Amino acid sequence: MSLSPKLTNADDEVRQAVSGSRRRFLTFTGAAVAAAFGTNLPGTSKALADEASLRSDPFTLGIASGDPLPDSVVLWTRLAPQVFDPVGGMPDKRFAVSWQVAKDERFAKVVREGAATARPEYLHSVHVDVRGLEPDRQYFYRFRAGRYLSPVGRTRTAPQPSASRSSLRFAVASCQAYSDGYYTALRHLADEDVDVVFFLGDYIYENAVNSVGGNRNDTSFVVPDIFQIAPDTLDLYRLRYSLYKADPDLQAAHAAFPWVVTWDDHEVEDNYADRFSSGNKPVDDFLVQRANAYRAYWEHMPLRPLQEPAGPDARLYREFRFGDLLQVNVLDTRQYRSDQACGDGAKAGCTAAGDPARTILGEAQRSWLLDSLGTSTARWNLLAQQVFMARRATSLTNPPLLAMDAWDGYTADRQRLFDTIVERDVKGLVVITGDTHTNYACDLKQNFDDEGSPTIGVEIMGTSISSVGNGSDTTDWLGVEMQANPHFKFNNFQRGYVRCELDRDHLRTDFRVVPYVTSRGAPISTRATYLSVRDNPGFQAADPR
Ligand code: FE
Ligand code: CA
Repeated sequence: MSLSPKLTNADDEVRQAVSGSRRRFLTFTGAAVAAAFGTNLPGTSKALADEASLRSDPFTLGIASGDPLPDSVVLWTRLAPQVFDPVGGMPDKRFAVSWQVAKDERFAKVVREGAATARPEYLHSVHVDVRGLEPDRQYFYRFRAGRYLSPVGRTRTAPQPSASRSSLRFAVASCQAYSDGYYTALRHLADEDVDVVFFLGDYIYENAVNSVGGNRNDTSFVVPDIFQIAPDTLDLYRLRYSLYKADPDLQAAHAAFPWVVTWDDHEVEDNYADRFSSGNKPVDDFLVQRANAYRAYWEHMPLRPLQEPAGPDARLYREFRFGDLLQVNVLDTRQYRSDQACGDGAKAGCTAAGDPARTILGEAQRSWLLDSLGTSTARWNLLAQQVFMARRATSLTNPPLLAMDAWDGYTADRQRLFDTIVERDVKGLVVITGDTHTNYACDLKQNFDDEGSPTIGVEIMGTSISSVGNGSDTTDWLGVEMQANPHFKFNNFQRGYVRCELDRDHLRTDFRVVPYVTSRGAPISTRATYLSVRDNPGFQAADPR
């Protein structure tokens, strides 16, 4: 989804002025692509830095944990004593980082500890795949580099797949354009009591950020001119994460819970599709850009080595289990999709959108998903993904306008998925989605052409953390959508996150919103609560809490 016009050639002067060192990272073509990716491989020849050489706090970007399994979580940090230095102010040497996992916040009962190596090839990021933990337990973790201790993080392992769990809580967040506002919602999220957070994409944006951080208008913190440039190089993507991760509210939300992340478009470029740039860059150039973007993403997220990109390819789709209660399939609807139909945008009567040869998942991911769902033994089945799955008519015309970037532009894949759910009698389907910067509670109809057809599950569209600024409770176009889509039960255009609670038979969904993001300190409240029943899905309004 676009926020504002893209940078154009008019920005070339800015590029020249601020990116002298950028030349060496400029795009490659053809055979040079392979050589360029080769430089991403970790070296063993780099010397180990003297620990005393670290002269200031390297934990400026916080800590994180993620991808909980019954015996494991991934712990993340990055050594960056200087946030806006392209290499974080670190020497071109390896650095020893020790870590600890404890049962208590004071680290009296340490259960695992070890030493990791922060490598300059990975911008001194650290990904520790801690094993041997107990299932369904809260833990605390921290790092040490030189004489500096990191903040303490709290995390939680998943229950064993066979374990009977009576309830589970999770939160849904997405879309945090830095210059659109403060991450007040994430600060409030840190105070919630959830087992896991799902972040569904647009972790960074490529849009220009001015010196006061746009809407933030923060004169106490100068954003360097290099953020006027839309990233395409590894350096520029890395700097985006440095800026975003320096935000204390984002750090607080990471430190409070394990996150399960997936990306959408803005981690690379608005509305890209597989190897196709929405700006029609040459494919070879765009694949180098995608490789840079994917690598910077992996370097800054609590992800396992399995998710590490190899050049422009990364396996981000993956499965989680939370006891017998919940199976989660995390999707990647960007990397393998066919180019958007009918030139993208909102289109009415685009027949290509239904072409069975077109796909939003790609064949391999689709087979994996249909197999996984078809054989699931969990009470509930959550799909954590990026773009609107339910039909969303945005006009009252016949045929209606539909977004070609969402599942409405790939209806054959949607129908294959829904047919499998019906044929295999998959129960407890809950789809969680980002991208539109709007809250929605929707019923998923087996056949969207027939509003009388069975409801096979529900979709929760979570609004943005900050993207598009303050927003409002409702808008004219949201009113039109409620009229045009009888399967929509609720929508709202404020910023926030969604808090969900599952028990054996019920899903409770609280839409948590803040009234503004352009200044700090907004309070949080529950705008609406919707319930769905596992064996009789469909959202019903309930008293907010
Ligand atoms: Fe977004
Ligand atoms: Ca998006």
